[in-house]
Amino acid sequence: MSTGIKNGKDHTVNIYIAILFFLFIIPPTISSSANGIKNEKYRVIVIDAGHGGKDPGALGSRSREKDVTLAIALKTGEYIQQNIKNVTVIYTRKDDSTVDLRDRPKIANKANADLFISIHANWASSKNVKGAETYIMGHAKDQANLEVAMNENAVMLREDDYSTKYEGFDPKSSESYIMFSLTQKVFQEQSTDLATKIQKQFRERVNRNDRDVKQAGFWVLYNTKMPSVLVETGFITNPDEEQYLNSKDGQDYLASSIFRACRDYLNEIDSKSGISWEKNQDSDQKNDTLTGTSLQTGEISFMVQVTTSVSKTEIKPENFKGLSEITEIYTQNRFKYAAGNFPDYYEAVNYRKKIDTIYPDAFVIAVKGNKILPLQQALEQKRKTQKN
Ligand SMILES: [Zn+2]
Repeated sequence: MSTGIKNGKDHTVNIYIAILFFLFIIPPTISSSANGIKNEKYRVIVIDAGHGGKDPGALGSRSREKDVTLAIALKTGEYIQQNIKNVTVIYTRKDDSTVDLRDRPKIANKANADLFISIHANWASSKNVKGAETYIMGHAKDQANLEVAMNENAVMLREDDYSTKYEGFDPKSSESYIMFSLTQKVFQEQSTDLATKIQKQFRERVNRNDRDVKQAGFWVLYNTKMPSVLVETGFITNPDEEQYLNSKDGQDYLASSIFRACRDYLNEIDSKSGISWEKNQDSDQKNDTLTGTSLQTGEISFMVQVTTSVSKTEIKPENFKGLSEITEIYTQNRFKYAAGNFPDYYEAVNYRKKIDTIYPDAFVIAVKGNKILPLQQALEQKRKTQKN
């Protein structure tokens, strides 16, 4: 063995060590932002591609509703994920699988979603009927609207034991629909707002025949606990629209319309609640002190900041709208008060949603030792320690 080869080997090893060293030592640039805590909201949007698997949905002359809805749903999700900050998209299906009607709202509720969008294609006995319409949950004003809901709900008849699963609801009997008029109208205003924005996009950007925002009793909208809409993107029974619904351009345009409506809707909510995407100047991490809930130093935990004040507030439930687990963080001559204490970021996000009605402007912060960390940095660190 010659020394030359040996040296060569050592050299190679040294290079490997150097590369490993740089990989582990150099901090990733994305987490080195020193912006402090941003007043950001994180959102979940559930996109529901109608039908699928055993259930083809409405049939056109050459295509099936389930394929059209899947293509548009996936594109819509892609647009949203790529273009809206801090949003997670969840699909009720991403392929041609069968999903029970009742499981679709459950997926959204379990994810604590902020929006639920069910995507469909319409059916009519006449080939001449065309256009797009968006439904919100409510009492159908006329027979035509009721029939759309009846057709969409009829999917449940394909499921085993549907009568038990759907509490005796008969999708084909108009009497069954009375129960829907008793539904709470908590999200009606927001749902109408989103539906109106979708129709505006359809009409103005992609030149669809606008059949307006409508109401009817859809099972998928009935049980969701968030603003929800059902979009009938066009009639698969109209030859022009069937072609449009199956074309790449048509699907792109429809998906981008739904995405734009979501973006405008979220922007409007944020501007109403005063959310700023700018740097938060008073969140410098110098001289932070922390009292209240005991913290394990060294561990990152997540809390929900509910108030900030120049004067000290005594920590008792009466002073925090009944919340008991409050931590005080003193930084930059201000007292910040945060509720809850979670090892997991998503638990904190869910908790923020739970207290949304009493503290609508609350937001999640990351705390380590006695310091508030920039959220991005905290999530990066957390991810690294979980990997190790
Ligand atoms: Zn449908």
